Amino acid sequence: NAAAFLLPPARLAALHAAELARHGERFAASVAACRANAAHYLLGAPLHWMADWPAPLAVERAEGARLVTVDGVELIDFCLGDTAAMFGHSPPALVAALAREAERGLSAMLPGAEAAATGAALEAAFGMPVWQFAATASDANRFLLRWARAVTGRQAIVVMDGCYHGTVDETLVDMADDASPATQPGGGATAAPPPGLGADGRPRAVRRPSILGPAWDASATTRVVPFNDLAALDAALADGQVAALLAEPALTNCGLVLPEPGYWREAAALARRHGTLLLIDETHTLSAGPGGWARSAPARAEGVAPDAVVIGKAIAGGMPCAVTGVTAELAARMTAAKRAAPPGHSGIGTTLAGSRLAVALVGSMLREVMTPAAWEAMDARAAEATAGIAAAIARHRLPWCVSRLGARLEFQFRPEPPRDAAGARAAMDDALEAFVHLALLNRGIVITPFHNMLLCSPATSAADVAALVAAFDEVCALIAGAAD
Ligand code: PMP
Repeated sequence: NAAAFLLPPARLAALHAAELARHGERFAASVAACRANAAHYLLGAPLHWMADWPAPLAVERAEGARLVTVDGVELIDFCLGDTAAMFGHSPPALVAALAREAERGLSAMLPGAEAAATGAALEAAFGMPVWQFAATASDANRFLLRWARAVTGRQAIVVMDGCYHGTVDETLVDMADDASPATQPGGGATAAPPPGLGADGRPRAVRRPSILGPAWDASATTRVVPFNDLAALDAALADGQVAALLAEPALTNCGLVLPEPGYWREAAALARRHGTLLLIDETHTLSAGPGGWARSAPARAEGVAPDAVVIGKAIAGGMPCAVTGVTAELAARMTAAKRAAPPGHSGIGTTLAGSRLAVALVGSMLREVMTPAAWEAMDARAAEATAGIAAAIARHRLPWCVSRLGARLEFQFRPEPPRDAAGARAAMDDALEAFVHLALLNRGIVITPFHNMLLCSPATSAADVAALVAAFDEVCALIAGAAD
């Protein structure tokens, strides 16, 4: 790709080695802590994802937009727990609620006194009248797909190429690019269908190769379409067998891919026409603003009205919790499906979901933390960060771009923002990415370890953003200086 062409691998490797040496000195205690963990944990960390950071890092505490490492180094955090702490680490109101509620019992498998107030706050924020709790966004999506099948009586689902909805087996698929030639009734082969289309002309899924231990081949019931491609979506829905279209309104998990104007108006209309439920996963796109993307001005202007939304991670400030909101109409169908089923396990829900603690914390977040002033600050800081990063890219003449969805932004190693996952993937460069992350870390800046995603919290100050931009500019200068 353009960036790799610009920077010969040997020069990048030399830059990387220099940063690694610098990290080893500055973060010696982190290196030691991670080494000690390796004696106790699979792949060296309590969750093996934690081994995916560009270099060892261990945290002594996190507060607001800051991480303090075990080395005593203070870092400005634009990762924010990969969205869990999008409203800042340990917001004081949430900490107070946690202390207050923890004394009154953590989980009794009964609703607490505050459940109705939290339900009202959820409706006020997101517009959906009926809610369910889950412990994680992965679970919320998994359960919602089950409900969708139960109420439609259909088996298939559609997801976007490049999607991530958590550890939901049936969504862990990619788009096929090796479609076999279609066979005509007479036996003669026609021309091969375009990439990603099966022999029947419908978009086709393949198991994501990195997934460990899959129980079955999800491509049997999951169809996958490129983002921003209405013709492919129409083809995927056309046979009337699709229970649900589960999508992020903007792809955020393979780099940021924004919807083209009008895409969701048409996509939602297609889903409605084919009797397919539109399930919007707002776990990351909550960054778009109060009420998430589905309540944003563009979504309202296009008249997009999902049947359900899922919001996880940040909704309880980083305590394990996710919520699912549904329309009154879908709620009625779900209620009927449950009543019609034999008594016993529904396959939906987990013991710790909807605890009185979780319900209370969501109420606290909505009322006291996710305030209009908080949203305004996040948006303003992210706009400044985007402008600063764009200016640095231009100053150093790098063939890169940056795009933004409210409080979330992403720089990508390609000149223009991609319109689908294939474009986003083509711009990925693991070695360059690892170097940029490490070099930013050595300059006091933490960004999400997966691709080049940043978030601004209400605690992120204008000075924090200025420090980010200065560090990014320095890193760009190193790259431009080493390029041909
Ligand atoms: N949905 C989206 C859009 C996500 O990005 C993620 C996690 N990155 C999830 C769901 C799953 O969240 P969790 O890991 O908390 O279950």
